[in-house]
Amino acid sequence: MSTALVWFRRDLRCHDHAALHHALRSAERVHCAFVFDTDILDALPTRCDRRVDFIHASLQELDGALDALSRAAGGQGSGLRVRHGPATDCIVQLAVALGVDRVWANRDYEPAAIARDRAVAQQLAAHGIAWADCKDQVVFEQNEVLTQAGTPFGVFTPYRKAWLKQLDGSQLRPYPIERHAARLAAKPAGEALPPLAALGFAPSNLASLPLPPGTRGGRQLLADFAARIDSYRAARDYPARKGVSYLSVHLRFGTVSVRELAALAQQHGGDGAATWLSELVWRDFYQMILWHHPQVVERAFKPTYDHIAWDDAPELFAAWCGAVTGYPLVDAALRQLHQTGYMHNRLRMVVASFLTKDLGIDWRLGERHFAQHLNDYDLAANNGGWQWAASTGCDAQPWFRIFNPTTQSQKFDPEGRFIRRYLPELARMPDQFIHAPASASAAVLAQAGVRLGHDYPKPIVDHARARQRTLMRFGFAAAEARMATAGTSQH
Ligand code: FAD
Repeated sequence: MSTALVWFRRDLRCHDHAALHHALRSAERVHCAFVFDTDILDALPTRCDRRVDFIHASLQELDGALDALSRAAGGQGSGLRVRHGPATDCIVQLAVALGVDRVWANRDYEPAAIARDRAVAQQLAAHGIAWADCKDQVVFEQNEVLTQAGTPFGVFTPYRKAWLKQLDGSQLRPYPIERHAARLAAKPAGEALPPLAALGFAPSNLASLPLPPGTRGGRQLLADFAARIDSYRAARDYPARKGVSYLSVHLRFGTVSVRELAALAQQHGGDGAATWLSELVWRDFYQMILWHHPQVVERAFKPTYDHIAWDDAPELFAAWCGAVTGYPLVDAALRQLHQTGYMHNRLRMVVASFLTKDLGIDWRLGERHFAQHLNDYDLAANNGGWQWAASTGCDAQPWFRIFNPTTQSQKFDPEGRFIRRYLPELARMPDQFIHAPASASAAVLAQAGVRLGHDYPKPIVDHARARQRTLMRFGFAAAEARMATAGTSQH
């Protein structure tokens, strides 16, 4: 009897799942597994992490869903085999122990994951076991959307046009898992999901957040968003409003399928849905960029900006991380990140711009901070977002366009509702001054009960001066890159 093993990674669902579908179609018995990979877990800075909680809760649901799926199809019941250890060893050992012919997984485009999968495939081959991976986490991958010259895009707008033109509906058709679900293998009795504590983790505050895990959680958020998708375009830039979908962590861990989301947007139509679909295209775009240009993990997409002399300013970086910059929108955004693991997209742009352009600090430091705290942390999107804000990336914000953190605040949180939510110490500041408390008179501050430098910090930098320094910094970098190129061409 042909047998297969499906290795779940960032695809924690059992509907519309490419690898599961192909395994069920091609093998008579299909086992399912997940590995709590110690190569990843051991690198986390703390033993209390919302993402580990989210994965754990989602696996609990997936285990039950696989069992129900098998029984509904007339099978004997099924479930998820969960291991804890280095993923490469665990998967190879399990595949050998189960005597499978092939291991299936959905493709991952991160350099470390590509190297890991290559190692797994090699070790499996030594045991006579085949490896197969498939596209699942994006709509179009790798070389599927190319310029007319057959090269990868480096600019988003023409990529989006080509992406949309190529979308003919076939890419969004869901994989019918149910048809062959009776082939799901039973799980040995007594083999249960290890509790968080056995993995060395303590529960986080996930349960107190409006972030229900698992496919059920993803569907709940999607239904909520579908009812307000028409206003997405108008509302998405205002962090105090419920304008966005909050689905990023579900997309990150695959508890929802990107195909069903894109299909919903396409079928719904209208401005709001089209704008939201564009965001899903950005997601594909950055995955494609990372796959073609893995060097962006460490370096600027545009080599010119590897010449930037960033400031070594540990105190300023500590103030940014500690949400005590004296710029209320920046501080409120960072508190949102630390308290919930989420940060609104407009605020990600504002705080990233503030770190790189107002504090003159290397984008890589901010990128690492986000990687530690974001529930939806995704290497491709995070790197893309940071390089966009720092003006070092492909199709980035031009370096001479520098966000003013105070006017951004006035524009996108005009009544300071978002600021008040995360900075209660400023709750009584009048709307007019909440964006820049240092501009208020002593009487206004006293009436609001704010002692600057005591209850709330004074601004750590002067924006106008910082702006001038940034213009010079980028100007120098461009000149240096030109000189380096001229020097190279003389030799
Ligand atoms: P919605 O507005 O509802 O968008 C729907 C989905 O589209 C998102 O869930 C996400 O999957 C995708 N998307 C939206 N915007 C982008 C974008 N600019 N790039 C790529 N995909 C996008 N997104 C992440 O998923 N992980 C990250 O680590 C991440 N880091 C970022 C860092 C910076 C500095 C910036 C500027 C942006 C970053 N983003 C990241 C993109 C974006 O901020 C988030 O995807 C979005 O805020 C998630 O909220 P949502 O699901 O409500 O978004």
